[in-house]
Amino acid sequence: MRKQIAAANWKMNLKSTEASTLLNELLAAPYALKSHQEVVFAVPAIYIPLAVSTLVGKANFFVAAQNCHQKNSGAFTGEISAPMYASVGVKHIVLGHSERREYFGESDALLAEKLNAVLAINSTPIFCCGEPLAIREAGSQNEFVEAQLKNGLFHLSAEEIVKVVIAYEPIWAIGTGKTASSDQAQEIHAYIRTCFAAKYGDAIAQEISILYGGSVKAANAKELFAQPDVDGGLVGGASLIVSEFEAIIHALK
Ligand code: PEP
Repeated sequence: MRKQIAAANWKMNLKSTEASTLLNELLAAPYALKSHQEVVFAVPAIYIPLAVSTLVGKANFFVAAQNCHQKNSGAFTGEISAPMYASVGVKHIVLGHSERREYFGESDALLAEKLNAVLAINSTPIFCCGEPLAIREAGSQNEFVEAQLKNGLFHLSAEEIVKVVIAYEPIWAIGTGKTASSDQAQEIHAYIRTCFAAKYGDAIAQEISILYGGSVKAANAKELFAQPDVDGGLVGGASLIVSEFEAIIHALK
């Protein structure tokens, strides 16, 4: 079975003691994750050492970065590279979150470079895609997302693409309280999988985990994750609340 993943995106939230309390309270619950289930915490870069040390010995729990620079090192003041993240225990890196695309001007071409940097050090990219409201209202979401996949990912080989996790996040559902219905999520996740099948073949497409993101919470996670092509979630707001994220982890299939 392909990986089922509950990924927390803390964004730019929490002070150090709050981060520590949240992780410790979350980890106090028993989870008994199956071998195909993973929990990933994309924490602010400054909390990575804290998160890595808190998760020591916790099988299938991982720490992620929320972004990285496309170069490995150099004169890029304020930036952090993929090899630097790997050197402190990061195994996953989120790329192309809609907030980075919108507020930091990240293009598909730049994301393609970042992907190469992440794959080169054997880390797992969590590649975000998803349409704004106007595109959804025009009914063009499939074409919009397909273009993001083609421009950002389709230069990868079959061996590389299976290492990528996709997060489909409709922008109109992020942080808005509006969630795609489970039917809407299934429909576009299935479409995304057909895009991979057309490019890489069905066997490869079946291996790729496609997470849903956009106001996932305890109350809707089970129904969303039950969809055949929804392989877990990338969770913002609800990942900051212990009881919510705990229930989301338990909703993984
Ligand atoms: C996100 O940050 O990727 C996200 C989906 O946020 P939220 O769950 O708050 O909508």
